[in-house]
Amino acid sequence: MSKNITEKKNNNKAYSKKQGEYSKAYKYSLCPLSTKCGGCQYIDKSNEEQLDIKLKKVKELLKDFGEVETILGMENPFHYRNKVNAAFRHKKNGEIIAGTYEEGTHNVLPVTSCLIENEKAGEIISTIKDLLRSFKIKVYNEDTGYGLLRHVMVRTAYTTGEIMVVLVTSSPVFPSKKNFVKALLDRHPDITTIVQNINDRATSMVLGTRNQTLYGRGYIEDVLCKKRFRLSPTSFYQVNPVQTEVLYNKAMEYAGLTGEETVIDAYCGIGTIGMVASDRAKEVIGVELNKEAVRDAITNAKINGCKNIDFYNNDAGKFMVNMASQGKTVDVVFMDPPRSGSDEAFMSSVLKLAPRKVVYISCGPESLARDLKYMTRDGKYKVEKMVACDMFPFTEHTESVVLMKRQK
Ligand code: SAH
Repeated sequence: MSKNITEKKNNNKAYSKKQGEYSKAYKYSLCPLSTKCGGCQYIDKSNEEQLDIKLKKVKELLKDFGEVETILGMENPFHYRNKVNAAFRHKKNGEIIAGTYEEGTHNVLPVTSCLIENEKAGEIISTIKDLLRSFKIKVYNEDTGYGLLRHVMVRTAYTTGEIMVVLVTSSPVFPSKKNFVKALLDRHPDITTIVQNINDRATSMVLGTRNQTLYGRGYIEDVLCKKRFRLSPTSFYQVNPVQTEVLYNKAMEYAGLTGEETVIDAYCGIGTIGMVASDRAKEVIGVELNKEAVRDAITNAKINGCKNIDFYNNDAGKFMVNMASQGKTVDVVFMDPPRSGSDEAFMSSVLKLAPRKVVYISCGPESLARDLKYMTRDGKYKVEKMVACDMFPFTEHTESVVLMKRQK
């Protein structure tokens, strides 16, 4: 008897090993870098399977708060990423490679095509790689600190077609930059702006704080939910423009604004959610930590003729603590924090301010579950509705929108 069990076990082992090899070969056939890059954890799954897995995960994490309605999927889940970053390395033979980091390391993998990134961005990065050689530009070496070009970021605006190229350099001195820009524009006349970003610190952050416009306006504009938005190099902007409209429409539906409300758009980035809400609210207040994003948000309000919206450059938690201590009243709070979630300062102030509704937009279901627990623990707020939204097809990440209502 015990022998049989051992045999069975061994067979299972052989079987799962074979399966693993098969799955690795299959993944390789879909993208030769997929097993090293680690970006597309679900590359070997159909769109339906991915949505299924994601919905199950969110349901499991949020089961204490009620039912998750559904997951809003993307019909054509390819090449959706509007922002592409490339790192560069010299190989021993002097050849330059451009691409992404191998998972958990700073080894650069040569990306020639990517299933989820904007294709035009990939072509521009490949051209830049070619130009580096003819212009004898050295790429930055993290170990020695020697070399000029650290990264390239390409941002594309889905609706307007505008393209921004950001050349991240280790020094403000960029020899023959005029000719470099000219050569790049000759090959890609559809680039609308080129910016040099100077990052002279020993850091793994891609962008530094100084920008110098080399061509065009230094920013691009995109249209989202019929509003026009300016994006600067360091401002946050959702990476999947098609699904962003789906997400925001759901958030607006949950908020159910009537035109009478005072609304807070916390963690507002360039003001997208607040601006979309402003047509249906009395007054909107946006708060955001990144200075450049707030500058963009203020400009965006002007571009769109939104007169009932104000933006503040502050930590969302501190801002809410101030509001609560001044005894202000608020009807609806939209909160869209980074993946790590919100904090106690922010949430305890929301509880004090006691808006009728809180719409929580989250790209981190784990931190969302933690925060919902805090928000609902004394029964003052109850989760009314929850939905998942696939903003990042082929990756394991899932976005969610939750509506909470005040009970007392
Ligand atoms: N709502 C926006 C941005 C969401 S991303 C959109 O949909 O585009 C989260 C934003 O929170 C980023 O812009 C980031 O700069 C900002 N942020 C991060 N920590 C913050 C904090 N403590 N206070 C305020 N904003 C913060």
